Amino acid sequence: MNVPPHKPLVYIISAPSGSGKSTLVNELLKKVSDLEFSISYTTRAPRGSETNGRQYYFVSRAEFEKMIAEDAFLEHAEVFGNYYGTARCFLQKAEQHGRDLLLDIDVQGAKQIQDKVPDATSIFILPPNRKILEERLRKRSEDADEVIERRLVTASREIENYQRYNYILVNDQLEDSIKLLRAIVRGERLLRTGRTLSAEEAKIVAMGDCCRLANVGERLQPILASFRSSGNPRGNSLP
Ligand code: 5GP
Repeated sequence: MNVPPHKPLVYIISAPSGSGKSTLVNELLKKVSDLEFSISYTTRAPRGSETNGRQYYFVSRAEFEKMIAEDAFLEHAEVFGNYYGTARCFLQKAEQHGRDLLLDIDVQGAKQIQDKVPDATSIFILPPNRKILEERLRKRSEDADEVIERRLVTASREIENYQRYNYILVNDQLEDSIKLLRAIVRGERLLRTGRTLSAEEAKIVAMGDCCRLANVGERLQPILASFRSSGNPRGNSLP
């Protein structure tokens, strides 16, 4: 269990802004060993206490475009008017270190990774409903009203891509969500060992299974409805 297979497992986590993804990712990294966070490159300015090389590598548009030309990215996308990208070298590094890789990327990036790394495990984090997402965005008090409005519209669009993900995690109670996320990651590792699992290990897999796309239908419908009923277009998912 402690030694992952040499070929790194790739975990993709996407979520609308304000879903609590960063907190969940940080907690996951504390609790699960041998999991590396892929630090993305971005052209957006650092926020608050963010530092270069920790949350992101902050680069200019010219530097980013040079990296695109050099084919340095495994995926890249434009989000809220800025470039974001995952450098290829992170996957190679994870492989060398015998560790798994965690990507915190948007739905456009997730699609590119799914095409290139088809056995990647993808997890979509959802807020319990639109109203709660709006409250969380307002509580952060980071953004002006029109930015919040734009984030909510983007969230409605992103959410329509949920079917592309292997697991859906509704982030209602933080402690429960952390446990579920950890179970998903550990469960995938266990399943890929291909060996017979102990009762304890099977419990971990079963816990993660609760969040599999096929098992969340009923829970999901009211959440999707809360976003669709606020006048947001349906069928706006990626091609
Ligand atoms: P923020 O600016 O709030 O940190 O991130 C904005 C969005 O960009 C989030 O949805 C985040 O997941 C996404 N993002 C961060 N890094 C990458 C990346 O390397 N590639 C892509 N495609 N999206 C990213």
